[in-house]
Amino acid sequence: MLFNINCQEIKYCCGPCNNNDIEKPGVLIDDNLKYILKPHDGKRYRLFMYTLLNEDILYLKNLRLCRECLNRYDESDYFNLDKKSIYYYDGVNILKKIINNKSIISHDIKEYISNIDIKK
Ligand SMILES: [Zn+2]
Repeated sequence: MLFNINCQEIKYCCGPCNNNDIEKPGVLIDDNLKYILKPHDGKRYRLFMYTLLNEDILYLKNLRLCRECLNRYDESDYFNLDKKSIYYYDGVNILKKIINNKSIISHDIKEYISNIDIKK
């Protein structure tokens, strides 16, 4: 199964961390607005891919990430579907984190989440 989620309206880190604090407004540094989440210029990453359980795939578009989640993504091997690792759960944790965002979460995704049992 393949999930596509547009995160354009999500104002917090869209990664697997458990921080869902709304990002604060940018701060002016050297005539440029700098933001806490990445990218620091306030723009959004175009597309990230996370593996879910059972080799399902989660595509997140237009997302912002905290430094920890970005580093974790860079250091992980999400494309290696044969590799059993903690990273299999990142996508699931992301879905669980953003499930309350009713405007972007479809019925299919809610059902998917309700049918999985997360074991860490
Ligand atoms: Zn994060």
